[in-house]
Amino acid sequence: LMHLTRKLIEIRTMLLSIDQSDSLKLPSIVVIGSQSSGKSSVLEAIVGHEFLPKGNNMVTRRPIELTLIHTPANEGGKEYGEFPALGLGKITDFTQIQRVLTDLNLAVPASEAVSNEPIDLRIYSPRVPDLTLIDLPGYIQIASMDQPESLKEKIAGLCERYIREPNIILAVCAADVDLANSPALRASRKVDPLGLRTIGVITKMDLVPPEQGAVILSGNRYPLHLGYVGVVCKPSGKQPRDESTAVLATRAEMDYFMGHREHFGSGQVMVGTDTLRRRLMEVLESSMASSLHGITNAVQLELEEAQYQFKVQYNDRRVSAESYVAEVVDTLKTRVRECAAQFRRPAVRARLKALLDERAFGILEQLYWADRRAPELAALAADSRVKPEDVEPYWRYKLEAASSLLTKSGVGRDATLLVAEGLRGLIEAIAAGEPFTHHPRTAERLVQFAHGILRERVGITSDQVENCIKPYKYEVEVEPREWEAGRAEAVGLYEHELEMCEGKLKEIRKRVGGNRRLNALTSYVRSLEEKEKERKQRRLAAPEGEEPEPMADLNGDDYRYPPAQILDARHAMLYSERLNILKLRLSTLKSKRCKAGPENDVLCPEAFLEVVTDKLAYTSAMFINIELLEHFFYQFPREIDSRLLYDLERREIVEFARENPEIRRHLDLQERKDKLEEVMKQLNSLATLRPDVQPSPRRQ
Ligand code: GDP
Repeated sequence: LMHLTRKLIEIRTMLLSIDQSDSLKLPSIVVIGSQSSGKSSVLEAIVGHEFLPKGNNMVTRRPIELTLIHTPANEGGKEYGEFPALGLGKITDFTQIQRVLTDLNLAVPASEAVSNEPIDLRIYSPRVPDLTLIDLPGYIQIASMDQPESLKEKIAGLCERYIREPNIILAVCAADVDLANSPALRASRKVDPLGLRTIGVITKMDLVPPEQGAVILSGNRYPLHLGYVGVVCKPSGKQPRDESTAVLATRAEMDYFMGHREHFGSGQVMVGTDTLRRRLMEVLESSMASSLHGITNAVQLELEEAQYQFKVQYNDRRVSAESYVAEVVDTLKTRVRECAAQFRRPAVRARLKALLDERAFGILEQLYWADRRAPELAALAADSRVKPEDVEPYWRYKLEAASSLLTKSGVGRDATLLVAEGLRGLIEAIAAGEPFTHHPRTAERLVQFAHGILRERVGITSDQVENCIKPYKYEVEVEPREWEAGRAEAVGLYEHELEMCEGKLKEIRKRVGGNRRLNALTSYVRSLEEKEKERKQRRLAAPEGEEPEPMADLNGDDYRYPPAQILDARHAMLYSERLNILKLRLSTLKSKRCKAGPENDVLCPEAFLEVVTDKLAYTSAMFINIELLEHFFYQFPREIDSRLLYDLERREIVEFARENPEIRRHLDLQERKDKLEEVMKQLNSLATLRPDVQPSPRRQ
């Protein structure tokens, strides 16, 4: 029979971890009593050790779920305690258990005073029976100054939750206090009016005359079905705490009751800690046994529900935190690999080329298009009699300046940063997407890894690129084939630019209301500009000290045209100017002379710069690939492996997986199902242990 309680205590612990609802609870013994009623002394007498926190200031602030596990004396007889939630291992020193309990209790903030969260403590000893006891904060009569007003109700509420069915109530009352005033009995009567599941413990029997004590124990005034047990748990005074203390205490108790045999020896009343222990075992045992059928049914129902849900929601597919982590890592690496494709060399080269083309465009605009002699250059190119060596040095210098501006514009740094930015954006985009939306800390770390690698490589790479394009800063040699390619590209670019300008002009024409209107507008704007020029000259010629003529409003001061249209006209003038020059340049680029070969570079700077940007882009892309991209795409997945998830402890892996709500739900249900299955198996095995207890007939 002993086995049954033991098994059921195990099952009870498992059920508690499944859920806290009342339907899945096996009974435990709940110890209640007012402060100083001797509650701790009774518990310690049962355990045979002093281990509960001591002090006058509300030392029990959290429920203590105390599980006593009887260990056979012949197996070494070691006594120890364990706090399963804390992972401190076996504690053989009971003063240390006392310290841990004190710390846990004191950790409850003073403002809350009591907490509902139970402390799980297990004690293994050959001297304890298999029991589960729950120690609750003592009832207080009057809250002291530093305790919140609501404390009294808070404690009462906490006790009320625990003394519900199916638990057994151990009501501790001191013999020297009138039972009518016992808060423990009063609370018990509220939930168990017939006294069917309440045991009375009368402490401090030595403090009242034996005949009075015997009357209390007879229970005539407040009858309890399970009866009263009288104890004397006088503390052992100054004696050191060791095993003999408990023995001495028991002897003192025995001496007391033996000394008053005439009152307590008749067998009518129950006295002594040993009796109490036995009584508790019996009561718990029979209470457990009678709960067995009900709990088996309840577990079966819950299990069926969990199995059904698991089937419906997850099609019986199991997950584990580890497999989830592996999946996340896989997804991440695949995504990074996919992105690496965007950074293949041709793609990078094209991006760098675009950057450089834009730069070359700016240089040409500044050096050639704004030059009033630009038409001269076109004329030279069109004249077949002009030999390249006849061209003025002016144009040669210009070309050299243009080339130098381009090659010395910090290409290494800018090209490297462009690519690094791309990489950064890429990782940030990955980190911002599923499943990292559920794992913000991990997302943050991904970005940090990327930044780390980039920080380390960007400087080296940009120096390396700059170094490798250095020769182009002095001379660019052009092969005929390169020349032709550059020329064709330049033609493409200029035609594109031409189209864009024409498009813009067309838009403006449409907006202002046709070509004639635009012409009228532009000649008006020109006349304004003329006037303004004259005025400026007059101002410059004006003698010192004379009040200068005010600046004219260039948008026209006579309201002939709306300002927006004037602005349109100005833009139109700029676009047509650009169109003229573009056409001029295009005709050169398409000319026979330009097609002839690189010896005409001075006359066709656009083709030449195009060749230069090509070379720069090619070289930069090559070294960025070696120094930055290859490193990055090699290093990043390794950072993930070594620093992101694989060195996590089991606990952290579970934590990570549970950050994802979908996985959390899946794991929860799966765990619940597994535990219920295990409990059910154990409950069924009890049937063989006790043939009179039939497990649920609703087996699958
Ligand atoms: P708790 O506050 O209900 O846990 O009560 P304690 O177990 O701390 O006991 C309160 C006080 O009563 C302590 O000073 C104990 O020494 C004393 N006490 C407990 N049991 C007995 C007993 O059987 N006889 C006597 N004389 N004193 C006791």
